[in-house]
Amino acid sequence: MENLISISTLNDFIFCPYSIYLHNVYMETDEGLYHATPQTKGKLAHEPVDTKTSSNRKDEILALPVMSEQLGIMGKIDVYRKSEKKLIERKYQLKQIYQGQVYQLWAQYFCMVEMGYEIEKIAFYEISTNKTIPIAIPTDADKMELMSFINSFREYDPSTPMKANPNKCRHCIYCNLCDKTEEDNVY
Ligand code: SF4
Repeated sequence: MENLISISTLNDFIFCPYSIYLHNVYMETDEGLYHATPQTKGKLAHEPVDTKTSSNRKDEILALPVMSEQLGIMGKIDVYRKSEKKLIERKYQLKQIYQGQVYQLWAQYFCMVEMGYEIEKIAFYEISTNKTIPIAIPTDADKMELMSFINSFREYDPSTPMKANPNKCRHCIYCNLCDKTEEDNVY
């Protein structure tokens, strides 16, 4: 089987494909070297789920590893509520929902369906406001869109010439390590 793509990197690829290349280069180093404040907060928001301490509800499955052979992806879900057949992705803050975040939720959904789970609802949960934001169950056309996106991820060549976007670079965790920009990180 070809290498599985991590679901958690789908949103980063939309933000900047080159960041995925840098992530792979620096993934072995100390995370403290490049993790900026928002990423650290996001990570901490996921920690109770990752360590399975955020819920005592018997009908919730937390931090379940998932994969799809058909899509060539793998990752981990946050919460699956069995009684509601509901998949939930927790985020610390969601001022705006980006397409990459929707792709991540779709990806988790398709993995779980392929693994035999029944899902009738999917949603984001914003921790900072205690708000649930329902998302439509992906259609066949949505699945095709996701597959085409995953394909472009798989075929990405980091040596392709690119023009860095300074607004993105300033908010990128790799800003101070990236050879494509002279910007400084705002954090
Ligand atoms: S610093 Fe800019 S060009 Fe480099 S990975 Fe980040 S967003 Fe992309």
